[in-house]
Amino acid sequence: MAEPDDDANPGGTGGTSADRRDECPADAEDERYMALALQLARRAFDAGEVPVGAIIVAAGSVIARARNQMLELRDPTAHAEMVAITQAAAALENDRLSNATLYVTVEPCPMCAGAIVWARVRRVVFGARDAKAGACGSVLDIARHPKLNHRAEIRSGVREADCADLMRDFFERRRSRTERPFEDREIRTDRDDHSRGDDDPERA
Ligand SMILES: [Zn+2]
Repeated sequence: MAEPDDDANPGGTGGTSADRRDECPADAEDERYMALALQLARRAFDAGEVPVGAIIVAAGSVIARARNQMLELRDPTAHAEMVAITQAAAALENDRLSNATLYVTVEPCPMCAGAIVWARVRRVVFGARDAKAGACGSVLDIARHPKLNHRAEIRSGVREADCADLMRDFFERRRSRTERPFEDREIRTDRDDHSRGDDDPERA
C-alpha cells in the first residue's frame, strides 16, 4: 500500500494542524476513529438495524456520523456509509471528499463502494470483512478498480473482532427471535428481480 510522501512530520512540529489536509492518520488514530464508528454501530444494534456505523474525518475533524437506517427510513440505500457521505458532502459543501477518510465497521457493499468512488473518498478504513457482499476486496474490489477513475486507499481489520462480534450477536439474536433463516447481510433486496420482471418485454 502506497504511503503518502508527506507523512514525514509525525510530530506535527512546525506546521499548523489545520492545514494538514493530506495527513494519513496513524494506527492509533485509526483505532480511535473506529471506536466512534463502533459506538454508532451499537446504536444501530439497539434500534434493531443491522449494526454498521460510519464516520468521515477530514482535516482532523469528524464531519459525518451515521449508522444504518434502512428500517427507520424504509430506504434500502440508507447504509451508514451512504448517509455519512451525504452528510460529509453537505458539511464540506463539496461533492468531492478528496481529503477525507471514511471509517466503517464493516466492509462496504457494491453500492457504497460505488459512492466512495463517485465521491472520490481518499481513504477507507473498515473493521470486519464481508465475505458475502464486500466490495473493497472480498467479493469485488470496486473501490480500487483499475478501470474506474478513482481508487481509494483501503485499510482493513481495524477493531475487526469487535466489529464482527457485533454483527454476529445481532444475527444470532435475530435468528433466535424469528426462528427462521436470515441472510447474514442486510443488503439482499429483491429489487433487481422486480425491475427485471417489470422490464421484461415478454410479460407486456
Ligand atoms: Zn452499503
